[in-house]
Order: sequence, then structure tokens, then C-alpha cells
Amino acid sequence: MTEPMKKLHGKVAIVTGAASGIGEVTARHFADHGALAVVIADVQDVKGREVAASIGSDRCTYIHCDVTDEEQVKSLVDSTVQLYGRLDVMFSNAGIGSASGQTVLELDLSGFDKVMAVNARGMAACVKYAARAMVEKGVRGSIVCTASFLAQFGTEGQTDYTMSKHAVLGLVRCASMQLSTRGVRVNCVSPGLVATPLVSKSLKVGAEELRAMMEAVYPGSTGPLTEKHVADAVVFLASEDSEFISGHNLVVDGGRGMNVIAPLKP
Ligand code: NAD
Repeated sequence: MTEPMKKLHGKVAIVTGAASGIGEVTARHFADHGALAVVIADVQDVKGREVAASIGSDRCTYIHCDVTDEEQVKSLVDSTVQLYGRLDVMFSNAGIGSASGQTVLELDLSGFDKVMAVNARGMAACVKYAARAMVEKGVRGSIVCTASFLAQFGTEGQTDYTMSKHAVLGLVRCASMQLSTRGVRVNCVSPGLVATPLVSKSLKVGAEELRAMMEAVYPGSTGPLTEKHVADAVVFLASEDSEFISGHNLVVDGGRGMNVIAPLKP
């Protein structure tokens, strides 16, 4: 990428859930866009370290962080500020799926607690500590959360996951309003279906089968939605190109909305 095209020159960024999928591709994209430092946070230590090493130890570090643990989130942000002097961008992206086909009638509340602990509570912890670090240092920072196209709809069988993603919208709307006079922006991206391990696990299909299914989900010449499409949207929200945009939910689904679900039904 040529210098003028780099949108994150000199920025210090954290990406949670960056050992895999959307987070991994976005961490690489941040580095390509000239980020000074990218901190990769995840619970998959081996994969996380591999991603960090492949980006380069001069500007990428892996830190183990389970976002359900508030102390670990605080320590992630503190360590980043200690290592690199400040935090400019938080991409709070770590998330888990839920078992498909669970309506409210058979809702497993212990499973519900696990999904909410990562997708809603973990997201709130990341926004809290990132915003504190930015406000304390007077940084005009950008926080981007990963919601989902399901944050706009009800679903027939993913009650807990759908609720958790609606919660992300609520968080972004509150935090963006509360931080609007402190120079910190808070937005979210809402990807449509992307062939990642999270979706493979939820649908109980292998990676190859899932990639083939994506052709039916995204018919037409543009091909399936990929992690890179989402990463482009995150870079926009993280960069000064979006300097007056806060509280926004940027849907990245090619206009397919809930139509992506139909081809997946047996
Ligand atoms: P993925 O499984 O490839 O990546 C998720 C990452 O989050 C993994 O590396 C995982 O180890 C990490 N993670 C899980 N629990 C964690 C925890 N407690 N603490 C820290 N890290 C944790 O899946 P993905 O599809 O790339 O998911 C990324 C985000 O995108 C999630 O928030 C997901 O809900 C959202 N999303 C995905 C899709 C899709 O179709 N793939 C669509 C909409 C939204």
C-alpha cells in the first residue's frame, strides 16, 4: 500500500478476537494501513502468537485476554499504554456463537449466560477501559465494536446470540453519546454472514462446506462477503476519514439482510 493510502499512520490499536476470522484479517489490515502498533488479544494463545509473529514483532504484540474477565481487559489496555504510550483505536470484536435452532421455549440459560458474558459484558468491559485510557491521555480515539446483521432482526432459533448483538447497539448508542464531548468516537460494524470458524461451529459444518454454502448465500458476480470487506469498514471507522461519525451502525452485508438465512435452512 502506498503511503498516501495508509489511513492509520502512527496509530496504536488493540484488536480483540484477533487470533481468527474477522479480527485476524482486520489486525493485518491495520498493520498494512501503517499502524504504529497492533496489539492482538485473544484466548487462543498459539494462534494469536502466530498471527502477531507473522505481522512482525516490531509492531505487533500478542496479549492473552479473556474479555469476560474485567481485570484481564483492564490489564490489556494498561499494558498497551505502557508499551506504546497511548491507545488510539480499540476494535472490540471477540465473540462466540450459540447453538443453532434454540427458540425461547427451550432456551438454555447457562448457554445464554456464556454468550452474554463474551458478546455483551465483554464488549462493555473493552469499551469501558479503552474509553478511560483515551480520556485520561486526551486522545481523540475511535472505538469500533462488532455487532451483526442480526442486531437488526429477530431470528427463529438464535435467541441468545441475537439478544447479545442487540446489546452491542445499545452499548454503542450510550457510549457514543456519553463520550461525544470527550473526543472519543464509538461505532459498530454489523457484518452479514462470513465463512469463519464461529459460523462453522454454529452451523456444525466444515470450513470447505461452509465456503461452498456461501455461494448460495451471496448470489451474483461480487462473490461472498469476506473478512476483508468487514476490515475495510473497520479501517474507515477507525481512521480520521470518519472523524464526525459516532454512534453509527455500519452494516456490511451487500444489502442481503435476512435473505442470507434462507439458503442455510435444511
Ligand atoms: P472467529 O471464531 O473466527 O473469531 C472470534 C475470535 O474471538 C476467536 O479468535 C476467539 O478465540 C475469540 N474469542 C472468543 N471468546 C473470547 C474471549 N472470551 N476473550 C477473547 N477472545 C475470545 O469468528 P468471527 O466470525 O471472526 O467473529 C468475530 C466477531 O464477528 C464476533 O463478535 C461475531 O459475533 C461477529 N460476527 C460474525 C459474523 C460471521 O458471519 N462470521 C457475522 C456477524 C458478526
